[in-house]
Amino acid sequence: MKSIIVALAGGTGAAKFLRGLVAVVPPEQVAVIVNTGDDALVWGLHVSPDLDTVTYALAGLLDEAKGWGVRDDTFRCLAAMAALGRETWFNLGDRDLGTHLFRTERLAAGRSLTEVTEAIRRALGVRSRLLPASDSPVATRVLTPGGWLGFQEYFVREKARVEVLDVAYGGAETASPAPGVLEAIHAATAVVICPSNPITSIGPILAVPGIAEALASTPARVLAISPIVGGAPVSGPAGKLMAAKGLPVSALGVAQLYRPWLDVLALDRQDERLAPDVAALGIAPLVTGTLMTDRRAEAALARAVVDRLAS
Ligand code: GDP
Repeated sequence: MKSIIVALAGGTGAAKFLRGLVAVVPPEQVAVIVNTGDDALVWGLHVSPDLDTVTYALAGLLDEAKGWGVRDDTFRCLAAMAALGRETWFNLGDRDLGTHLFRTERLAAGRSLTEVTEAIRRALGVRSRLLPASDSPVATRVLTPGGWLGFQEYFVREKARVEVLDVAYGGAETASPAPGVLEAIHAATAVVICPSNPITSIGPILAVPGIAEALASTPARVLAISPIVGGAPVSGPAGKLMAAKGLPVSALGVAQLYRPWLDVLALDRQDERLAPDVAALGIAPLVTGTLMTDRRAEAALARAVVDRLAS
């Protein structure tokens, strides 16, 4: 039987890990289930930031300095919209806009997000399978002292600087996993949870009924890579969001959150002292270098993960 590694992914951290993964295993043997909780309507266009980040990364098109968007993109349309007085806090590059126009047009023509994602992946030459977690909308919202904000309002417009009291996944309880998601988890040789924000990247995937249950019941081993290193996220607001959910901001907090279905947690060497506490939760620790500072580090982490899953 063909061996398939199924990964659950958010944006920037996942993009680096997945680039490493397809450098050490054939890309056709990787399937990625991607968060859609960050999706937003911008100027009437359906933007799927995590799907785009993962797709661009695997297509070799990602702007690696920014961690999102297309490399060497221009922003002339954005400037034109600003001149017309439209809000431009959500940066969309000109080439990137092509993706959003295509997605919006195809969705309006009755295609599902799964079908559109597949069309974009093929057109950009991505050889791994990419699946949105759900075809129905799941909207991550963040409760601040001033009220509820959409995720992009919190993350991009407010630059994640406001206090967070709670996080919710609007529509998740009535959403279904996209076609192929549960089947992929059940048929996987191994499942990897990328180093992604546990609350706003992995959380919305787990909130779709059936996905957490599939992780618990799959015969495949499930391994997560901690996005928290040395008591803080490598980037982004994961720490504040985990604290808002009452979790310790550490690899141990990640282990507690994923405990119902997690077999192995990869944690950074600088967090080695947490390994016994992780083991005490019934999760096998894998202590390794998890800081993906360059291509070599990305591939080395992927190699350590693949070797552990094969052992
Ligand atoms: P967001 O930026 O918090 O919205 O979340 P994403 O899921 O898109 O990706 C960022 C997550 O990846 C953060 O929680 C980071 O801590 C994590 N991350 C980014 N780079 C690395 C890395 O090199 N190593 C590890 N372990 N985590 C990383």
